[in-house]
Amino acid sequence: MALHQRAKRFTISIRKGDNVHILSGRDAGKSGRVLSINPRKNTVVVEHANIIKRHTRPNPNKNIKGGIVEKEGPIHVSNVQVVCGNCGKHTRVGHQTLSDGSRTRVCKRCGTTLDK
Ligand SMILES: [Zn+2]
Repeated sequence: MALHQRAKRFTISIRKGDNVHILSGRDAGKSGRVLSINPRKNTVVVEHANIIKRHTRPNPNKNIKGGIVEKEGPIHVSNVQVVCGNCGKHTRVGHQTLSDGSRTRVCKRCGTTLDK
């Protein structure tokens, strides 16, 4: 795929701050908190997961030291699942419209809402 083309948009059912379970890759089986989401690339960054080494150049203006920095790398959204706070399992996510018209995410296993 050419670089200027956008990746197909997934309906990302993951929100920042969610606790997610990693399904595949080096950190499969781990879980952690979502730090950020990239809707263009359909990736999420999960705390302490998929650690990559970044070789950074020092930039005194931004007070960045050079060297090798370890940081979290992006993981594709299809490789993570939200962990339900109620049943404690990782799950598919459903969407439900409430009586007041607002939409909420629900756990496909137990049916409880994932948004507080
Ligand atoms: Zn559940």
